[in-house]
Amino acid sequence: MTITTRFAPSPTGYIHVGNLRTALFNYLIARKSGGRFILRLDDTDPERSKQEYADAIQEDLEWLGITWDRIERQSDRLDRYAAEAERLRTAGRFYEAWETPTELDLKRKKQLNMGQPPVYDRAALKLSADDQVRMRAERGQGVWRFLLDQERIEWEDGILGPLSIDAGSVSDPVLIRADGQVLYTFASVVDDIDMGITHVVRGADHVTNTATQIQIMAALGAGHPAFAHHSLLTGAQGEALSKRLGTLSLRDLRAAGVERMALLSLMARLGSSQPVVLAGSLDELAEGFDLSQFGAAPTKFDEADLYPLTARILQELPLSAVAGDIAALGVPDRLAADFWDVARANITTKADLAGWWRLFRDGATPVVDAEDSDFIAQAFAMLPDLPYDAETWSKWTNAVKDATGRKGKGLFMPLRKAVTGREKGPEMADVMRLLQKKPTL
Ligand code: GLU
Repeated sequence: MTITTRFAPSPTGYIHVGNLRTALFNYLIARKSGGRFILRLDDTDPERSKQEYADAIQEDLEWLGITWDRIERQSDRLDRYAAEAERLRTAGRFYEAWETPTELDLKRKKQLNMGQPPVYDRAALKLSADDQVRMRAERGQGVWRFLLDQERIEWEDGILGPLSIDAGSVSDPVLIRADGQVLYTFASVVDDIDMGITHVVRGADHVTNTATQIQIMAALGAGHPAFAHHSLLTGAQGEALSKRLGTLSLRDLRAAGVERMALLSLMARLGSSQPVVLAGSLDELAEGFDLSQFGAAPTKFDEADLYPLTARILQELPLSAVAGDIAALGVPDRLAADFWDVARANITTKADLAGWWRLFRDGATPVVDAEDSDFIAQAFAMLPDLPYDAETWSKWTNAVKDATGRKGKGLFMPLRKAVTGREKGPEMADVMRLLQKKPTL
């Protein structure tokens, strides 16, 4: 049996960190076992599904290096869903129902008032053949509901452990809408069977779907894959992330300068008992991936954690990996290697390179505390002319020290702030040798 997993986003928006977790877990499981990973676009909703998003999902996964062995689109498989729906009808597991949303709502409210669970009462099952003809004439096509077997549905969840859901507490799911649109719950079952999916990892919001899908699969004469439900992400303080997920799209994080291996390394471990380690490749992450180490508790995600990891990746990069970015800033070739050597330990993302280059090229607006203004004026008057080299800083500061009597931090910090406009940065000897302009006040 070839382990086969899938990532099944709906192309109705950009994918975000929450989706990435699902994609990555499924990818790593397949990768670790030499299995197959399928990208499936759940696009049965023609109004909300957009080609633009389908393209963006693929671009985002490509950026991350998450590659798929096969891509499938549900909109290409409508015939298969129709054929399988027919089988459910023949088997007596599918029935048509005509309640309007308002009627259903009313029923739910009544049930809740009476302290009953708001489960669909199967009124449509009691309609006679004549009633059905009349309903169809009055209301047109109904929705198609799957008739659940009233039993406990049990499975061993790969993350949550043994689970069981009483089918009596769940409404018979609508699988086909009145307008004929096949809903995800059903399309997904047909796909998972046809595509030989062996493992389904998805968010804990799908637990009830899983229960009904296990029954639908059985009704179609199939076994079911192994299921695992990962916890949902929350913000750093445990707050719901749903509203902010829009700003945590993979493309936004990428645009903010997050390095792909920083994101992947964090997401492969966050919410598990294993520590986050910065991995060099997806293969390395697959090697150490263990679904059973993940817990049921909501997983806190703090975007800020991505930046120290990104900085660590950047520090290790050879010049060749950033030569293009550096050239794009206008750094002359002869300075590129020195510039990278000096700047790399002082950046969080590649975007920070621009600020350092601007400093070296144009100089900074000096920051001078009131009590240092005479000192700085005196020191700047002693600055040699360009070109500067590795000795410029020590020669200059020695001369300033002799002339002013200042030493140590009282000597160096005001000079650093006046030359660079900041309190922190590379060694001043390195800053000076890279300066392309004599500092002025
Ligand atoms: N399209 C579904 C979703 O994005 C897929 C869920 C599943 O993995 O079965 O929630």
